[in-house]
Amino acid sequence: MARYFKKMHDSRQDYEVDRDTAEKVLGRNYPWYRPRGNDPGYFAVCSRCDNPVRLIGLYTGGVTPHGRHVGRPKDGFPYFDRISNDFCAYDRPRVINKADRRDISEFGRKIIRIAIEEFDRIIYVLSQTLGFHISTTLAEEMLRDWLAEEGYLYTGAHLRNVPWMIAYFSRRQSLFGRPIWGNDELVAAIQENEPNATFERQALAKGDAFYSVTFEFIGHRTRPLPDAKTEESVTMRVFGTAPWGGEAPLILEQQVVFDDARFAALMNTAPERAQRNDRLLAIAQRVGGHLVGK
Ligand SMILES: [Zn+2]
Repeated sequence: MARYFKKMHDSRQDYEVDRDTAEKVLGRNYPWYRPRGNDPGYFAVCSRCDNPVRLIGLYTGGVTPHGRHVGRPKDGFPYFDRISNDFCAYDRPRVINKADRRDISEFGRKIIRIAIEEFDRIIYVLSQTLGFHISTTLAEEMLRDWLAEEGYLYTGAHLRNVPWMIAYFSRRQSLFGRPIWGNDELVAAIQENEPNATFERQALAKGDAFYSVTFEFIGHRTRPLPDAKTEESVTMRVFGTAPWGGEAPLILEQQVVFDDARFAALMNTAPERAQRNDRLLAIAQRVGGHLVGK
């Protein structure tokens, strides 16, 4: 089920599915408006997978307006991708196999383009969800890991979950020196489990004795919520200092819920109002620019 729609597969702007917006944005024109009997029949495109959806519940009570994937090519909508459609339309709780990859296609190239051209926003929204600062060095390493693992071909990847997918495909990293300004649970877990940990300006600093705090992401999953919403998440695992010759103990598991409406809103910010981070954009261009033909 889709809570957001776009006008066409190659348009940018996302809209929430509701009657006023649909009427205003889609008008009474083919291919969007196609009435049959007393059914007004509005069609648009899902903003996560770009495939055609029928807008449901615009004029009937009792159901939250949403887009239902048509599930096949639809005349007037030239784009259809079976794999991304089926992934997106499946609305039961599930964990997706991290090893699942598809062939490179227009869809995969679109995801790469978003990763490169929106990289500053990706890092911003990711950092907001995690509650700690992501340095340019860490950002670059995450992007390199995601590209090396071909995260853009993962079947669970779509056009609005790129920030969290980049985290999901990155290797375990150290939290040392990263200001933690919005994650009290994380700070508490460190203070409770790592007596040598010291905070300076909210960041882990050198303590009396060696210690380590690292983090990684596992378990990408989706589950349907009421009101035609879908919740998508990964689990962040945080590890403390490993005993001599042993494995680092798990000190915290935290569910990271994707805020793809926030990411879409950032992407849709008018250029004259947008604040871009040129340094991050330059890094993304250097690391992956060749993949988008620039
Ligand atoms: Zn979709």
